[in-house]
Amino acid sequence: MRLSEHFEMSELECRCCGQCHMDPTLMDKLELLRSLAGGLPLHVNSGYRCPVHNAEVGGSPRSAHLRGLAVDIAVPSGGRMHQLLGAAFAAGFPRIEQGNNYLHVDIDDTLPCPCSWINPLGCRESNAGIE
Ligand SMILES: [Zn+2]
Ligand SMILES: [Zn+2]
Repeated sequence: MRLSEHFEMSELECRCCGQCHMDPTLMDKLELLRSLAGGLPLHVNSGYRCPVHNAEVGGSPRSAHLRGLAVDIAVPSGGRMHQLLGAAFAAGFPRIEQGNNYLHVDIDDTLPCPCSWINPLGCRESNAGIE
């Protein structure tokens, strides 16, 4: 099942249980980001997370992933971080985290925003306890 023009539910559902409650506004912004970054495919590491999976990957207890308001995009080293960051700002994401191999974007206005930060220790799909 397709959640938006370029993203399948299988890409965004919880990795442990398949639940998927992505916010439609978030999906619109993700499409905008994709388009502003040149329209190339994006690899999603993490979209919706249930509380169990969020804890497993070391997400913050208040993580926007729990509410379907965040996405982590894989950005391999040597990849397009600069371009994707620019597109994330241009798309109007109010919260942006640059990890060493991923970009977290979220629209959760119950968390501090606008806000952008760097997480050099972030790994895998987690946010290393930040958000
Ligand atoms: Zn789950
Ligand atoms: Zn994230």
